[in-house]
Amino acid sequence: MTLISTNTPTAELQALDAAHHMHPFTTGADLARKGARVITRAEGCWLTDSEGERILDGMAGLWCVNVGYGRKELAAAAARQMEELPYYNTFFQTTHVPAIQLSARLAELAPGDLNNVFYASSGSEANDTNIRLVRTYWEEKGQPERKVIISRWNAYHGSSVGSGSLGGMKGMHAQGGMPIPDIHHIDQPNWWAEGGDMTPEEFGLERARQLEQAIEEIGPEKVAAFIAEPVQGAGGVIIPPETYWPEIQRIVDKYGIILIADEVICGFGRTGNWFGSETMGIKPHIMTIAKGLSSGYQPIGGSIVNDEIAGVIGKTEFNHGYTYSGHPVAAAVALENLRILDEEGVVTRVREETGPYLKQKFEALADHPLVGEAKISGFMGSLALTPDKASRAPFAADAGTVGYICRERCFANNLVMRHVGDRMIISPPLVLSKDEIDTLIDRATRSLDECHAELK
Ligand code: PLP
Repeated sequence: MTLISTNTPTAELQALDAAHHMHPFTTGADLARKGARVITRAEGCWLTDSEGERILDGMAGLWCVNVGYGRKELAAAAARQMEELPYYNTFFQTTHVPAIQLSARLAELAPGDLNNVFYASSGSEANDTNIRLVRTYWEEKGQPERKVIISRWNAYHGSSVGSGSLGGMKGMHAQGGMPIPDIHHIDQPNWWAEGGDMTPEEFGLERARQLEQAIEEIGPEKVAAFIAEPVQGAGGVIIPPETYWPEIQRIVDKYGIILIADEVICGFGRTGNWFGSETMGIKPHIMTIAKGLSSGYQPIGGSIVNDEIAGVIGKTEFNHGYTYSGHPVAAAVALENLRILDEEGVVTRVREETGPYLKQKFEALADHPLVGEAKISGFMGSLALTPDKASRAPFAADAGTVGYICRERCFANNLVMRHVGDRMIISPPLVLSKDEIDTLIDRATRSLDECHAELK
């Protein structure tokens, strides 16, 4: 066996990595050209790489490390649980204390009658559960023809065959035989890119009404559910116009279809409330959760289901589940993470203090010559890069080139920002301080300046 450690020279680690490790959403050519950046430690909002560089993590890992890195309480919760009961399943009428406690706590936190949790180990698995949950619900209600789930182009709901089909990423659909049948996509509420001459308000209504048109075309008796992220994350942090969600809610209510809010990113404080549904003022029947549920310290996700749907599903045996559904160690860590978010006032601070501060600084980036739109909800925001603000024009080069350059500049300036096409994204840990917000904005500005200079 090749013996390596965090002290092994970076080039050696990268060569081994490129030789044997298949990375998600990465090309082999990029790995061979440059090698992956090797992250060795992290504390608070700061990463350290194998070269000893300290990097400000403007993405909270992959939108998930809400309480920041290095929280010893979470490590202790995992260790305690591993010693007491490292594993038991929740199939066939068994349970354990961490799953019971976490379910009860989530029922308290979730709005309305969202009182019932079905666990998974990831957001993808949870959305696969949702496909089967809503279809099984309608079968049990005597309406088995209600199978179609409506989603949106450019949505991201995961990478498994089911969740990837729910998502609207055309690059994903092009690989491996997706989407599965009976998934229908409507357009996204991305005013900057697609709003044309309409005002944001008009455009929000127009996009929401596509849901009604789709239901009418498919036939209301065939539609099971509509799924959407309160704020689209991986699609580029698309914050919908204010008219969008109220109109969607009206349509969902009118046709009696199930509303699934995918809270995998928006949940657990990201938008300044416990759930993005609260920020957007919507009333889902099911919420998908993952990521911030454990701040990424353990892989855990799930579906929080309302009493009506859970009651109907509970009348039969739901032939579905994962070996790690409600895993005790993951559940114990998630519970401790929720305690930190609550008792340390993390969510409240994002809503009332650091969120407004970040908003003011972040939105001022719209004055930069490269930036058209700068929008943020709580601690998730994006910048639309453009060569011409007035016409909201995209760059002529292949989509993503300018964003890629800007992301590389950020990386060189020791700031992690992500790009989606020519949109630059932040989603930092929710514990980012005001000083760290200043650092983030300074480094983002410097990176934008350098990118701008490079384009000239
Ligand atoms: N749903 C949303 C909104 C997401 O952003 C993601 C991941 O980024 C997922 C689902 C999939 O979660 P996971 O990667 O844990 O499978």
